[in-house]
Amino acid sequence: MAAQSDSHQSNTFAEAASTLVNELRATFVSGETRNYKWRVSQLKQLYKIAENHEPEIIDALLADVGKPPLETVAYEIAMLKNSCKTAIKELKHWMTPEKVRTSLTTFPASAEIVSEPLGVVLVISAWNYPFLLSLDPVIGAIAAGNAVVLKPSEIAPATSALLAKLVGEYMDNSSIRVVEGAVDETSALLQQKWDKIFYTGSPCFSPLVFFYCNGRVGRIVMAAAAKHLTPVVLELGGKSPVVVDSNSNINLQVTTRRIIAGKWGCNNGQACISPDYIITTKDYAPKLVDALKTELESFYGKNPLESKDLSRIVNSNHFARLTKLLDDDKVSGKIVHGGEKDETKLRISPTILLDVPRDSLIMSEEIFGPLLPIITVDRIEESFEVINSGPKPLAAYIFTNNKNLKEQFVKTISAGGLVINDTTIHLAVHTLPFGGVGDSGVGAYHGKFSFDAFSHKKAVLYRSFFGDASIRYPPYTKTKFRL
Ligand code: NAD
Repeated sequence: MAAQSDSHQSNTFAEAASTLVNELRATFVSGETRNYKWRVSQLKQLYKIAENHEPEIIDALLADVGKPPLETVAYEIAMLKNSCKTAIKELKHWMTPEKVRTSLTTFPASAEIVSEPLGVVLVISAWNYPFLLSLDPVIGAIAAGNAVVLKPSEIAPATSALLAKLVGEYMDNSSIRVVEGAVDETSALLQQKWDKIFYTGSPCFSPLVFFYCNGRVGRIVMAAAAKHLTPVVLELGGKSPVVVDSNSNINLQVTTRRIIAGKWGCNNGQACISPDYIITTKDYAPKLVDALKTELESFYGKNPLESKDLSRIVNSNHFARLTKLLDDDKVSGKIVHGGEKDETKLRISPTILLDVPRDSLIMSEEIFGPLLPIITVDRIEESFEVINSGPKPLAAYIFTNNKNLKEQFVKTISAGGLVINDTTIHLAVHTLPFGGVGDSGVGAYHGKFSFDAFSHKKAVLYRSFFGDASIRYPPYTKTKFRL
């Protein structure tokens, strides 16, 4: 009986999803969303959502993940507004066909690349930056002239509800909709034929095995898309390393502050490009730990569990997952700072572990929380081998003044993005693509890359009736062949 009602429910979800896609496809086919004016007006409406509803957005993120208001304003609201402004300012230019050179074979001819919208697209987003990660891809989808369905994360329910309400109020609902829900609703959406699926997320938490199965949901999305030959962007995660070079007279205080800002200052480590682990030399590690401790105390005080400047852990599943990483026998005695927990408030203090073995649990999965292990090597150059021995990360960072080391880092480390002498901040540079490589993702977005992610680059060649070379026509004589 239960199975019957489950299948009835999933049929209902699938029917609703199918009706929705058909409605949006009808709008897309009408040509409305291709219109420059429509695109700009919708981008302006999106901007207004961020501009007019700052207090509600702050409250939703406080409820969902205890995010400090300043982090919400800086990393979610302001970034979204900047993306909107860039898209509005650049849209005419992005939409203009790009003239390209032709070859001698086609002379006389001219050619251009025309960006055309893909059609009806699906955006599935994650809970950790639930406002920005939901609407930022939508900017690209609208700018490129598509109809779009957004599925926010159920793990951030207050933000999901707010997005559904505000998109309903502000946006053109004949072409832009929000569908709330969890796995069943997402699965029903994934059964439909889309023209692009943009997925942010990745590791799937299973409360049964207490294990993050890296990339599982990304694989589910890609497999569903493959059934319809639908292209995907997968914004996934990974273990983003920080190399700290002890030999080049780095500014240790700036280094530690920037590591802390990227780790605990980004949603308490629950960010896709947060430093996941540090690699430094054995002799330098204690000095680095001391400097981190000093700065951590100056930022979050003596009792960081009470700090209002740190997000909480999103839910009890993730709290249990992080606790398990610390309970692993292989890291017992390795905590050199922090380690305090408050399960009732879902809080874990900034925690540093020194000299963790590379086969420990904490080194085998993305941490996505306030724990920061340090691995030590004899020579800093060995850090590159350590990084390259694992899956390709979403970001990699190095702190050094050594020119050769910087060059080697850029040449040998394959990651979604690299930053030299800082962490996470590349995400604010809209002229850089943001995305992963290998296990950390497929495709990229931000700025023009968002527009391109939701466009088809149509090749158009213009010929005249002039200069009709006979060589391409039969009969294929020997004389023609020699030419
Ligand atoms: P999540 O649990 O919110 O899941 C993401 C989305 O997948 C949600 O909308 C959810 O409904 C959907 N989903 C979950 N299980 C599903 C299933 N079985 N079938 C279909 N859909 C399903 O978020 P998460 O995965 O815990 O997010 C954290 C991960 O996302 C981290 O690995 C992080 O690094 C990555 N991330 C990447 C970026 C990026 O820009 N590259 C940004 C944020 C987070």
